[in-house]
Amino acid sequence: MIRERHLFGPGPTNPYAEATRALADPLLGHLDPEFLRIMDETCDRLRTVWGTANARTLPLSATGSAGMEAAFVNTVHPGDVVVVAVNGLFGQRMTDVAARCGAEVVAVEHDWGQPVDVDRVLSAHPSPAIIAAVHAETSTGVRSDIAALGAGKGDALLLVDAVTSIGGIELCADDWGVDIGYAGTQKCLGVAPGLAPFTIGDRAFERRVEKPRSWYLDLGMLGGYVGEAGVTGAQRTYHHTAPTAMVASLHAGLGRILEEGLEAVWARHQAAGDALQAGLQEMGLELFAADGHRLPDLTTVKVPDGVDSAAVRKELLERHGIEIGAGAGPYASSVWRIGLMGPNARPDAVLLALAALEDVLG
Ligand code: PLP
Repeated sequence: MIRERHLFGPGPTNPYAEATRALADPLLGHLDPEFLRIMDETCDRLRTVWGTANARTLPLSATGSAGMEAAFVNTVHPGDVVVVAVNGLFGQRMTDVAARCGAEVVAVEHDWGQPVDVDRVLSAHPSPAIIAAVHAETSTGVRSDIAALGAGKGDALLLVDAVTSIGGIELCADDWGVDIGYAGTQKCLGVAPGLAPFTIGDRAFERRVEKPRSWYLDLGMLGGYVGEAGVTGAQRTYHHTAPTAMVASLHAGLGRILEEGLEAVWARHQAAGDALQAGLQEMGLELFAADGHRLPDLTTVKVPDGVDSAAVRKELLERHGIEIGAGAGPYASSVWRIGLMGPNARPDAVLLALAALEDVLG
Protein backbone atom coordinates (compact mmCIF):
# COMPACT_ATOMS: atom_id res chain seq x y z
CA MET A 1 0.00 0.00 0.00
CA ILE A 2 1.47 3.33 -1.07
CA ARG A 3 1.38 6.09 1.53
CA GLU A 4 -0.47 9.17 0.27
CA ARG A 5 1.76 12.04 -0.81
CA HIS A 6 1.23 15.74 -0.75
CA LEU A 7 2.24 16.51 -4.32
CA PHE A 8 3.57 20.06 -3.94
CA GLY A 9 6.01 19.85 -6.85
CA PRO A 10 5.75 21.15 -10.42
CA GLY A 11 3.22 18.43 -11.28
CA PRO A 12 1.56 16.08 -11.09
CA THR A 13 -0.54 17.53 -8.31
CA ASN A 14 -2.98 15.61 -6.13
CA PRO A 15 -6.17 15.29 -8.18
CA TYR A 16 -9.58 16.68 -7.29
CA ALA A 17 -11.59 13.99 -5.47
CA GLU A 18 -14.19 14.05 -8.26
CA ALA A 19 -11.50 13.21 -10.84
CA THR A 20 -10.23 10.30 -8.72
CA ARG A 21 -13.71 8.93 -8.08
CA ALA A 22 -14.52 8.93 -11.81
CA LEU A 23 -11.64 6.49 -12.38
CA ALA A 24 -13.56 3.93 -10.35
CA ASP A 25 -16.74 4.21 -12.44
CA PRO A 26 -17.55 1.27 -14.76
CA LEU A 27 -15.28 1.35 -17.79
CA LEU A 28 -17.04 2.43 -21.02
CA GLY A 29 -16.18 1.44 -24.58
CA HIS A 30 -14.91 4.26 -26.76
CA LEU A 31 -17.99 4.14 -29.01
CA ASP A 32 -20.55 3.71 -26.20
CA PRO A 33 -23.18 6.47 -26.51
CA GLU A 34 -22.64 7.35 -22.85
CA PHE A 35 -18.93 7.81 -23.48
CA LEU A 36 -19.59 9.94 -26.60
CA ARG A 37 -21.77 12.19 -24.45
CA ILE A 38 -19.00 12.47 -21.85
CA MET A 39 -16.46 13.24 -24.58
CA ASP A 40 -18.65 15.95 -26.14
CA GLU A 41 -19.24 17.52 -22.74
CA THR A 42 -15.52 17.31 -21.96
CA CYS A 43 -14.74 19.24 -25.16
CA ASP A 44 -17.36 21.86 -24.19
CA ARG A 45 -15.84 22.17 -20.74
CA LEU A 46 -12.37 22.46 -22.26
CA ARG A 47 -13.59 25.31 -24.47
CA THR A 48 -14.63 27.12 -21.30
CA VAL A 49 -11.31 26.69 -19.48
CA TRP A 50 -9.36 27.65 -22.62
CA GLY A 51 -11.58 30.68 -23.17
CA THR A 52 -12.27 29.70 -26.76
CA ALA A 53 -15.09 28.96 -29.15
CA ASN A 54 -12.79 26.79 -31.32
CA ALA A 55 -14.69 23.77 -32.66
CA ARG A 56 -11.41 21.87 -32.69
CA THR A 57 -10.85 21.67 -28.95
CA LEU A 58 -10.19 18.19 -27.61
CA PRO A 59 -8.18 16.11 -25.16
CA LEU A 60 -5.31 14.48 -27.07
CA SER A 61 -4.57 10.97 -25.82
CA ALA A 62 -1.10 11.56 -24.41
CA THR A 63 0.71 13.96 -22.09
CA GLY A 64 1.48 17.64 -22.56
CA SER A 65 4.57 16.90 -24.63
CA ALA A 66 2.32 15.29 -27.25
CA GLY A 67 0.35 18.52 -27.25
CA MET A 68 3.57 20.33 -28.09
CA GLU A 69 4.37 17.82 -30.85
CA ALA A 70 0.85 18.05 -32.28
CA ALA A 71 0.99 21.84 -32.29
CA PHE A 72 4.18 21.99 -34.34
CA VAL A 73 3.84 18.90 -36.53
CA ASN A 74 0.46 20.04 -37.81
CA THR A 75 1.38 23.67 -38.50
CA VAL A 76 5.05 23.87 -39.50
CA HIS A 77 5.73 23.53 -43.22
CA PRO A 78 9.34 22.80 -44.18
CA GLY A 79 11.34 26.04 -44.14
CA ASP A 80 8.73 28.06 -42.20
CA VAL A 81 10.20 30.66 -39.90
CA VAL A 82 9.16 29.94 -36.32
CA VAL A 83 10.06 32.53 -33.70
CA VAL A 84 10.28 30.91 -30.26
CA ALA A 85 10.46 32.89 -27.04
CA VAL A 86 12.87 30.94 -24.84
CA ASN A 87 12.80 31.87 -21.16
CA GLY A 88 13.18 28.40 -19.69
CA LEU A 89 13.28 24.68 -20.34
CA PHE A 90 9.97 24.38 -22.15
CA GLY A 91 10.67 27.22 -24.57
CA GLN A 92 13.97 25.50 -25.24
CA ARG A 93 12.13 22.24 -25.93
CA MET A 94 9.84 24.06 -28.40
CA THR A 95 12.89 25.02 -30.48
CA ASP A 96 13.90 21.37 -30.68
CA VAL A 97 10.42 20.18 -31.65
CA ALA A 98 9.96 22.97 -34.23
CA ALA A 99 13.37 22.22 -35.79
CA ARG A 100 12.50 18.51 -36.07
CA CYS A 101 9.41 19.57 -38.03
CA GLY A 102 11.61 21.39 -40.53
CA ALA A 103 11.24 24.93 -39.20
CA GLU A 104 13.83 27.64 -39.55
CA VAL A 105 13.87 28.45 -35.85
CA VAL A 106 14.57 31.94 -34.56
CA ALA A 107 15.11 31.50 -30.83
CA VAL A 108 14.77 34.65 -28.75
CA GLU A 109 16.75 33.86 -25.62
CA HIS A 110 16.00 35.36 -22.21
CA ASP A 111 17.60 35.03 -18.81
CA TRP A 112 15.82 32.30 -16.88
CA GLY A 113 13.51 33.79 -14.26
CA GLN A 114 12.47 36.65 -16.56
CA PRO A 115 9.20 36.95 -18.50
CA VAL A 116 9.10 37.01 -22.28
CA ASP A 117 10.18 40.36 -23.70
CA VAL A 118 7.30 40.97 -26.09
CA ASP A 119 9.01 43.68 -28.17
CA ARG A 120 12.11 41.56 -28.76
CA VAL A 121 10.01 38.56 -29.77
CA LEU A 122 7.77 40.53 -32.11
CA SER A 123 10.73 42.20 -33.83
CA ALA A 124 12.85 39.04 -34.09
CA HIS A 125 11.76 38.42 -37.70
CA PRO A 126 9.73 40.52 -40.19
CA SER A 127 7.35 37.76 -41.30
CA PRO A 128 7.36 34.60 -39.20
CA ALA A 129 4.83 31.89 -39.94
CA ILE A 130 4.50 31.12 -36.23
CA ILE A 131 5.34 32.84 -32.97
CA ALA A 132 5.56 30.41 -30.05
CA ALA A 133 5.74 31.06 -26.32
CA VAL A 134 5.13 29.40 -22.97
CA HIS A 135 2.45 31.14 -20.91
CA ALA A 136 3.60 29.73 -17.57
CA GLU A 137 7.24 28.54 -17.56
CA THR A 138 7.22 25.64 -15.11
CA SER A 139 11.01 25.56 -15.06
CA THR A 140 11.27 29.07 -13.61
CA GLY A 141 7.86 29.95 -12.15
CA VAL A 142 7.32 32.89 -14.52
CA ARG A 143 4.16 34.14 -16.24
CA SER A 144 4.40 35.88 -19.62
CA ASP A 145 2.04 38.28 -21.37
CA ILE A 146 0.35 36.26 -24.09
CA ALA A 147 -2.25 38.96 -24.83
CA ALA A 148 0.53 41.37 -25.84
CA LEU A 149 2.04 38.77 -28.18
CA GLY A 150 -1.39 38.21 -29.71
CA ALA A 151 -1.96 41.93 -30.19
CA GLY A 152 1.30 42.27 -32.14
CA LYS A 153 1.49 38.96 -34.00
CA GLY A 154 0.40 40.36 -37.38
CA ASP A 155 -0.19 37.58 -39.88
CA ALA A 156 1.75 35.00 -37.84
CA LEU A 157 0.03 32.21 -35.96
CA LEU A 158 0.41 32.37 -32.18
CA LEU A 159 1.22 29.00 -30.63
CA VAL A 160 1.02 28.82 -26.83
CA ASP A 161 1.98 26.32 -24.15
CA ALA A 162 -0.60 26.55 -21.37
CA VAL A 163 0.40 23.40 -19.48
CA THR A 164 0.94 25.18 -16.16
CA SER A 165 -1.61 27.94 -16.63
CA ILE A 166 -4.83 26.21 -17.65
CA GLY A 167 -7.31 26.00 -14.79
CA GLY A 168 -5.02 27.96 -12.46
CA ILE A 169 -4.52 31.46 -13.80
CA GLU A 170 -6.36 33.69 -16.26
CA LEU A 171 -6.34 32.18 -19.76
CA CYS A 172 -8.44 33.74 -22.56
CA ALA A 173 -7.27 32.07 -25.76
CA ASP A 174 -9.66 33.82 -28.15
CA ASP A 175 -9.40 37.30 -26.63
CA TRP A 176 -5.62 37.01 -26.60
CA GLY A 177 -5.30 35.86 -30.20
CA VAL A 178 -4.04 32.35 -29.48
CA ASP A 179 -4.30 30.25 -32.66
CA ILE A 180 -2.94 26.96 -31.33
CA GLY A 181 -2.74 25.93 -27.68
CA TYR A 182 -1.85 22.81 -25.76
CA ALA A 183 -1.92 21.92 -22.08
CA GLY A 184 -1.77 19.01 -19.65
CA THR A 185 -4.17 17.57 -17.12
CA GLN A 186 -1.81 16.99 -14.20
CA LYS A 187 -1.33 20.54 -13.00
CA CYS A 188 -4.03 23.08 -12.16
CA LEU A 189 -6.79 21.01 -13.79
CA GLY A 190 -6.27 18.60 -10.90
CA VAL A 191 -6.44 15.37 -12.91
CA ALA A 192 -3.83 12.60 -13.27
CA PRO A 193 -1.31 12.94 -16.11
CA GLY A 194 -2.24 11.36 -19.44
CA LEU A 195 -4.18 13.79 -21.62
CA ALA A 196 -3.28 16.98 -23.46
CA PRO A 197 -6.13 19.49 -23.77
CA PHE A 198 -5.65 21.02 -27.21
CA THR A 199 -7.25 23.80 -29.21
CA ILE A 200 -6.74 25.13 -32.72
CA GLY A 201 -8.59 27.97 -34.45
CA ASP A 202 -9.87 28.03 -38.03
CA ARG A 203 -7.07 30.28 -39.33
CA ALA A 204 -4.40 27.84 -38.10
CA PHE A 205 -6.37 24.78 -39.20
CA GLU A 206 -6.73 26.14 -42.73
CA ARG A 207 -2.96 26.65 -42.92
CA ARG A 208 -2.15 23.23 -41.48
CA VAL A 209 0.13 20.63 -43.02
CA GLU A 210 -2.11 18.42 -45.16
CA LYS A 211 -0.30 15.19 -44.34
CA PRO A 212 1.81 15.72 -41.21
CA ARG A 213 4.61 13.30 -40.42
CA SER A 214 2.75 12.04 -37.36
CA TRP A 215 -0.18 9.75 -38.04
CA TYR A 216 -1.31 9.61 -34.42
CA LEU A 217 -1.33 13.39 -33.93
CA ASP A 218 -2.76 14.31 -37.37
CA LEU A 219 -5.45 16.84 -36.48
CA GLY A 220 -7.16 16.36 -39.83
CA MET A 221 -7.81 12.73 -38.96
CA LEU A 222 -8.60 13.46 -35.33
CA GLY A 223 -11.43 15.78 -36.39
CA GLY A 224 -13.74 12.85 -36.90
CA TYR A 225 -12.69 11.24 -33.65
CA VAL A 226 -14.06 14.10 -31.60
CA GLY A 227 -14.23 17.93 -31.78
CA GLU A 228 -15.75 18.39 -35.19
CA ALA A 229 -18.19 15.54 -34.72
CA GLY A 230 -19.48 17.23 -31.58
CA VAL A 231 -19.80 20.58 -33.29
CA THR A 232 -20.82 19.89 -36.89
CA GLY A 233 -22.65 16.65 -36.34
CA ALA A 234 -20.24 14.84 -38.68
CA GLN A 235 -20.18 11.08 -38.43
CA ARG A 236 -18.02 9.83 -35.58
CA THR A 237 -15.13 7.77 -36.91
CA TYR A 238 -12.71 5.44 -35.18
CA HIS A 239 -9.17 6.78 -35.09
CA HIS A 240 -7.69 5.22 -31.97
CA THR A 241 -9.11 3.71 -28.80
CA ALA A 242 -9.93 6.70 -26.63
CA PRO A 243 -8.57 6.37 -23.08
CA THR A 244 -12.11 6.37 -21.78
CA ALA A 245 -11.32 6.24 -18.06
CA MET A 246 -8.97 9.22 -18.32
CA VAL A 247 -11.48 11.23 -20.34
CA ALA A 248 -14.15 10.47 -17.74
CA SER A 249 -11.76 11.62 -15.03
CA LEU A 250 -10.98 14.85 -16.89
CA HIS A 251 -14.71 15.39 -17.42
CA ALA A 252 -15.25 15.12 -13.67
CA GLY A 253 -12.28 17.34 -12.80
CA LEU A 254 -13.47 20.02 -15.21
CA GLY A 255 -16.97 19.73 -13.76
CA ARG A 256 -15.54 20.37 -10.31
CA ILE A 257 -13.71 23.48 -11.54
CA LEU A 258 -16.67 24.92 -13.41
CA GLU A 259 -18.97 24.30 -10.47
CA GLU A 260 -16.68 26.38 -8.27
CA GLY A 261 -16.40 28.94 -11.08
CA LEU A 262 -13.32 29.58 -13.19
CA GLU A 263 -12.64 33.02 -11.73
CA ALA A 264 -13.04 31.72 -8.19
CA VAL A 265 -10.56 28.94 -8.99
CA TRP A 266 -8.06 31.46 -10.37
CA ALA A 267 -8.52 33.59 -7.22
CA ARG A 268 -7.97 30.55 -5.01
CA HIS A 269 -4.68 29.77 -6.79
CA GLN A 270 -3.61 33.41 -6.50
CA ALA A 271 -4.39 33.56 -2.78
CA ALA A 272 -2.50 30.32 -2.07
CA GLY A 273 0.51 31.46 -4.12
CA ASP A 274 0.58 34.89 -2.47
CA ALA A 275 0.44 33.33 1.00
CA LEU A 276 3.13 30.79 0.21
CA GLN A 277 5.47 33.38 -1.30
CA ALA A 278 4.96 35.77 1.63
CA GLY A 279 5.61 32.94 4.10
CA LEU A 280 8.77 31.79 2.35
CA GLN A 281 10.15 35.31 2.36
CA GLU A 282 9.28 35.70 6.06
CA MET A 283 11.38 32.59 6.65
CA GLY A 284 14.30 34.46 5.06
CA LEU A 285 14.20 32.56 1.76
CA GLU A 286 14.65 34.32 -1.55
CA LEU A 287 12.35 33.80 -4.52
CA PHE A 288 13.83 33.08 -7.95
CA ALA A 289 11.28 34.40 -10.46
CA ALA A 290 11.25 38.10 -11.30
CA ASP A 291 9.02 40.12 -8.99
CA GLY A 292 5.75 41.10 -10.65
CA HIS A 293 5.83 38.09 -12.98
CA ARG A 294 5.59 35.24 -10.48
CA LEU A 295 3.15 32.43 -11.04
CA PRO A 296 0.90 31.79 -8.04
CA ASP A 297 0.60 28.08 -8.77
CA LEU A 298 4.33 27.35 -9.12
CA THR A 299 6.81 29.09 -6.86
CA THR A 300 10.57 28.96 -7.35
CA VAL A 301 12.79 29.43 -4.30
CA LYS A 302 16.56 29.78 -4.14
CA VAL A 303 18.21 27.05 -2.09
CA PRO A 304 20.10 28.84 0.73
CA ASP A 305 23.90 28.69 0.61
CA GLY A 306 25.31 25.58 2.27
CA VAL A 307 22.00 23.68 2.14
CA ASP A 308 21.88 20.34 0.31
CA SER A 309 18.87 20.71 -2.01
CA ALA A 310 18.35 16.98 -2.59
CA ALA A 311 18.68 16.12 1.10
CA VAL A 312 15.93 18.61 1.98
CA ARG A 313 13.60 17.16 -0.64
CA LYS A 314 14.30 13.64 0.60
CA GLU A 315 13.61 14.65 4.19
CA LEU A 316 10.35 16.39 3.21
CA LEU A 317 9.19 13.23 1.48
CA GLU A 318 10.24 10.79 4.18
CA ARG A 319 9.23 12.82 7.24
CA HIS A 320 6.17 14.68 5.93
CA GLY A 321 5.08 12.81 2.79
CA ILE A 322 5.62 16.02 0.82
CA GLU A 323 7.04 16.13 -2.69
CA ILE A 324 8.54 19.35 -3.94
CA GLY A 325 10.55 19.72 -7.13
CA ALA A 326 14.21 20.31 -7.80
CA GLY A 327 15.12 23.18 -10.08
CA ALA A 328 15.28 22.67 -13.83
CA GLY A 329 18.25 22.73 -16.19
CA PRO A 330 21.13 24.81 -14.87
CA TYR A 331 19.24 25.45 -11.61
CA ALA A 332 18.77 21.77 -10.74
CA SER A 333 20.46 22.04 -7.35
CA SER A 334 20.12 25.76 -6.62
CA VAL A 335 16.34 26.21 -6.88
CA TRP A 336 13.30 24.40 -5.45
CA ARG A 337 9.95 24.39 -7.19
CA ILE A 338 6.85 24.34 -5.02
CA GLY A 339 3.50 23.91 -6.74
CA LEU A 340 0.13 24.50 -5.16
CA MET A 341 -2.19 23.41 -7.92
CA GLY A 342 -5.77 22.21 -8.22
CA PRO A 343 -7.05 20.99 -4.84
CA ASN A 344 -3.71 21.95 -3.24
CA ALA A 345 -4.31 25.65 -3.83
CA ARG A 346 -5.69 26.01 -0.30
CA PRO A 347 -4.64 27.66 2.97
CA ASP A 348 -4.08 24.33 4.74
CA ALA A 349 -1.63 23.23 2.04
CA VAL A 350 0.20 26.56 2.34
CA LEU A 351 0.60 26.09 6.10
CA LEU A 352 1.69 22.49 5.70
CA ALA A 353 4.32 23.36 3.07
CA LEU A 354 5.73 26.22 5.15
CA ALA A 355 5.74 24.32 8.44
CA ALA A 356 7.38 21.25 6.91
CA LEU A 357 10.06 23.30 5.19
CA GLU A 358 10.76 25.18 8.42
CA ASP A 359 10.99 21.88 10.27
CA VAL A 360 13.41 20.35 7.77
CA LEU A 361 15.55 23.44 7.41
CA GLY A 362 15.73 23.59 11.22
N1 PLP B 1 5.23 22.38 -21.10
C1 PLP B 1 5.29 22.78 -19.82
C2 PLP B 1 5.27 24.25 -19.52
C3 PLP B 1 5.39 21.84 -18.80
O1 PLP B 1 5.46 22.23 -17.53
C4 PLP B 1 5.42 20.46 -19.13
C5 PLP B 1 5.54 19.45 -18.07
O2 PLP B 1 5.84 19.73 -16.94
C6 PLP B 1 5.34 20.10 -20.47
C7 PLP B 1 5.25 21.08 -21.42
C8 PLP B 1 5.38 18.66 -20.88
O3 PLP B 1 4.25 18.01 -20.41
P1 PLP B 1 4.26 16.44 -20.04
O4 PLP B 1 5.32 16.25 -19.01
O5 PLP B 1 2.86 16.24 -19.53
O6 PLP B 1 4.53 15.68 -21.28
